[in-house]
Formats: sequence, structure tokens, C-alpha cells
Amino acid sequence: MADSLRADVVIVGAGSAGCVLAARLSEDPARSVVLLESGPVPRDAGAFAPGVLDAGTVRGSVPGQAINWTIPGRIGPSRDYTTVRGRMLGGSSSINGGYFIRPRLADFADWAAVGGPEWSYERALPRMVALEHDLDYPASAIHGDHGPILVSRGGSDEPTAVILAAAAEASGYPQEPDKNDQGAPGYGPVPTNTAGGVRQNAGLAYVLPVMSRPNLTVLGDRTVSRVLLRGGRAIGVEYRTGSELHLAFADLVVLSAGAIGSAQLLIASGIGPEGELRRLGVPVAVPAPGVGASFSDHPQLTVEWWPRPPIPSSESSWLAGALHTEEIEVLASAKSMTQLTGQGSGGPLPLLVSVMTPRPTGRLRLRSADPATPPLLDYGYLDSAKARRELRDALRLVLELLETPNWRAARDPDDHPRPAGRDDAGLDAWIAEHLGTAMHTTGTVPLGPDGPVDSSGRVLGVDGLIVADAAILPTGPRRGPALAAVLIGETISDAIRRRA
Ligand SMILES: Cc1cc2nc3c(=O)[nH]c(=O)nc-3n(C[C@H](O)[C@H](O)[C@H](O)COP(=O)(O)OP(=O)(O)OC[C@H]3O[C@@H](n4cnc5c(N)ncnc54)[C@H](O)[C@@H]3O)c2cc1C
Repeated sequence: MADSLRADVVIVGAGSAGCVLAARLSEDPARSVVLLESGPVPRDAGAFAPGVLDAGTVRGSVPGQAINWTIPGRIGPSRDYTTVRGRMLGGSSSINGGYFIRPRLADFADWAAVGGPEWSYERALPRMVALEHDLDYPASAIHGDHGPILVSRGGSDEPTAVILAAAAEASGYPQEPDKNDQGAPGYGPVPTNTAGGVRQNAGLAYVLPVMSRPNLTVLGDRTVSRVLLRGGRAIGVEYRTGSELHLAFADLVVLSAGAIGSAQLLIASGIGPEGELRRLGVPVAVPAPGVGASFSDHPQLTVEWWPRPPIPSSESSWLAGALHTEEIEVLASAKSMTQLTGQGSGGPLPLLVSVMTPRPTGRLRLRSADPATPPLLDYGYLDSAKARRELRDALRLVLELLETPNWRAARDPDDHPRPAGRDDAGLDAWIAEHLGTAMHTTGTVPLGPDGPVDSSGRVLGVDGLIVADAAILPTGPRRGPALAAVLIGETISDAIRRRA
């Protein structure tokens, strides 16, 4: 065993939520904070891996890179799918699409019903105002102008955005100029955590500006393997760097390893469903049947279309507007998939179509107690007739948009968007073959009165152990969860500081 660390708080995972916790908890110079991250931790903006800060692409999302976790999943009965999560300072906010949008009023109502007033819209709104610096709207009760995360809504002039707006209008959908203002869902520009073509990941926004605080230690290449428990309390974590094993001791351990990593670490530490712990040969510390038992995500289809003449792609943004209904999201991309992933130029332009209603149909199981072995994710997306119908509705909506006069005029005459037919059986077959996921996993360790965690993220049955990341949402948000993850970081930091 090599050397050990000691701090008041150890945070595991420098992702969207973990970076917020590290910055907020170290504001008190009397509190020592250690942040352990499995991936690389650049010490300044120039040291991020090439492309990470480029808001015009999502190169970090290509599976199999050192800066991501690559995880096998099962989308439907006969469809395997590989997902990724970020693995570096900023976590998934360093590799994601950069669309940064507030949850809906109905989400806050659902969360407050289970987690109490701290999760209500009324309490969340001032935090959402404080975390942003909105470059498009002046400071108000709705928008902030001095928070760490720069928010902008570029892309409205993109030819693709203009086509989407015209098609949506022709189809009778309302305009939604500010998707962070809780208006009726419709079409409009997408709020992003990008500015001047730079993806403002949580590390860049929250941690780099405070990296020099003497009471904050941020360490990369530290993969935590389990929480150390003694007499019903967490006393620290065990972690690896290379082949060396180390210990970090703390009064408070905060797991911010993400919806997948935090559930994985709890189970590896003996906090999980008893049957699963026995199967893995992990001694049961605290039976917690809710860990990994269900999770939410957004099923996603990619429908591509060929423009004619080819549309020049913007250098700074790929998001060219979005259409929302109560259930469905259509994100228009100004760039082809090959451009987005940095693998080439040209090609058809994707429309990303997702069903956004909450669906806790996923299940996470471990294949091994070793955190280096990815867990198995079963999304259960096609398990009910209702879910299959919602996906058909989403697909029909986007196929109808492509048939509006503006879009027909913009499409290559030889372009025949797939699937060709519109009957249920034909759509079901196409969906079963092409369905993917938005990678919006939440709720693997949901908060609630019966646990596994309470409304402040405290693991029931263990003192000194908190989960603070997208894992704790009791139901999936009706929009992307990136902003919700930052909000969770702010909310749980406040709860910890109130108790200190
Ligand atoms: C490719 C992709 C695109 C996405 N696009 C969008 C989008 O455009 N808009 C949107 O709203 N949402 C998007 N999301 C989802 C959103 O980014 C995430 O929900 C959010 O960032 C999750 O934040 P988190 O703090 O829960 O976890 P993460 O940000 O994933 O952070 C977890 C951190 O913990 C670290 N970690 C994990 N295990 C360990 C361990 N054992 N030891 C040490 N460190 C560990 C990880 O390396 C990571 O840095 C996307 C996600 C992905 C993967």
C-alpha cells in the first residue's frame, strides 16, 4: 500500500456535479477538499486534449478513447449499443453536445413531490440563475449575468435552423424563443454552455479558476475502487493510480462519479441489492435494493437528410435549433455525423429525435466488482407497447417535417429519408434496428424517503457518505440532464454547507 491522503471532504469524480462541489465546498478556507478523478486533469485551458473545448464537434464521444468510459448496453431485445461517459476534468460535460437547458416545471414538481421543497422550481430557480452567465439575456429573475457557466443560443441563422423553423411553423408549432423560460414547448434556438465556439465544461467553469486554493487538491489518474466503511460510517476511499493502491481518508465522502460510476462504486463497496452483491462475491455492508434497480434515459433516433446544394457548416456550433413538443425533442444539426465526430467532411445532416417523457425502464448490473470492468446497461426502451408507440409518433413527426415545402425544397431530389413506409409494422422494424440513446442516464441511485439516498444525497444506513450527481434524480428530466447535474452540485453543496 502506497501513501495516503487526509481531508475534510473527499469528492470522487470531477464531472458536471463534482466540479461544482469541489469549487463550492473549498470556498471555506477552513475546509480541506480532495477531488479524485479517474481521467486526466489539465491545469489550464490550453492543456485539454485536442478538440475537447471545440463546441463545433463532439469528438470526445467517439467510443474507445482514453478520455471516455466505453460501456456496453442493450437497447432493445435484439439491439446491443455502446455508450460513453466523460473521463477527465469536466466529466461528461467535456465530451457532450453542449446543449444546456433547464428541466421543465413538471420535472421540478415530480422531484419536489419525492425530495421536498429543496427540489422545487422556486428553490431551484435562484440557483439556476446564479450558475449561469447568459450572454443573450440581461440579468433578471430568470437569467444570471455573473455565474460560472457561459450560456448562449447561437445557430439561429444557420441555414438548417432556418429550414427547421419554417417547417415547424408550417406544421403549426409555436415559437419558443427562450427554452430556459418555461414557456409552451415549440421551436427555437438551443441554450448551450458554449461561448465563442468554446465548450464551457464544468472543469473549465468551476475548477480551473480556483485550482490554486491551498485547501483544494485536484488529482487526475486516480480511479477509486471502493468506499472504506467502518462501524456504519464512510471513512474514506481506496483508489488506484497505475498499479499502485492508495487510501484517502475523510470525514465526508461524496460520490460524484456520475449515474453509472456512482452506482458502480456503491455496489463495489457492498451497498446495493443483496442478490447482486452475493453474485459478485461482495460482502453486504448495507442492503440497498434501489441501487441500479432502475434508471431513466431518452431513447433517440437519428434521421438523416441530404441537403442540396450542400450547406456550409458553421465553425463554431453544430446545434441548429430544436423543436419540442410535450413528449418529443427534435435537435437539428448543422453538421454531418462525420464532421461532428471529427472523422471527415460531407455527408447527410442528422436530425436527432428523442422521446423525453420520464421512463425509468433501465437497469444497471455489475459484471465485476472491479471499477475497471464496465457494468452492463439494459435500457429496456422497447419493453412496452406505450414506449413503442411514442417512438413511432416521434419518428412520424420528423418524417412529416421533412415533407413540408421548405424542407422538400432544401433536400436533394434523390434524397429519400428512411424509413420509407409509415405503417406501424414498418416503423417498428426500422426503430428496432436503429434505436440509440441520448446518453442522458439518471436515477441509478434515486433520492426518496426509502432511499437509497435521502433528499440531501445521504446514503441511508451509512454516515458520512453522500451521492451528488445525476444518479440521484428520482425521475429523468424532460430535457437533457447536463444543467440538472450542475444544479445537483449546487443543491447538495448548499445542503452540506448548511449542516457544517
Ligand atoms: C456523449 C454525450 C453527449 C451528451 N450530450 C448532452 C447534451 O448535449 N446536453 C445534455 O443536457 N446532456 C448531455 N449529456 C448528458 C450529460 O452530459 C450528463 O448527464 C452530465 O454531464 C452528468 O454529470 P455527472 O456529474 O452526473 O457525471 P459526469 O459528468 O459523467 O462525471 C462523472 C466523473 O466521475 C469520474 N469517475 C467515474 N468513476 C470514477 C472512479 N471510479 N474514480 C474516479 N473518478 C471516477 C468520471 O471520469 C467523470 O469525470 C451527454 C452525455 C454524453 C456521454
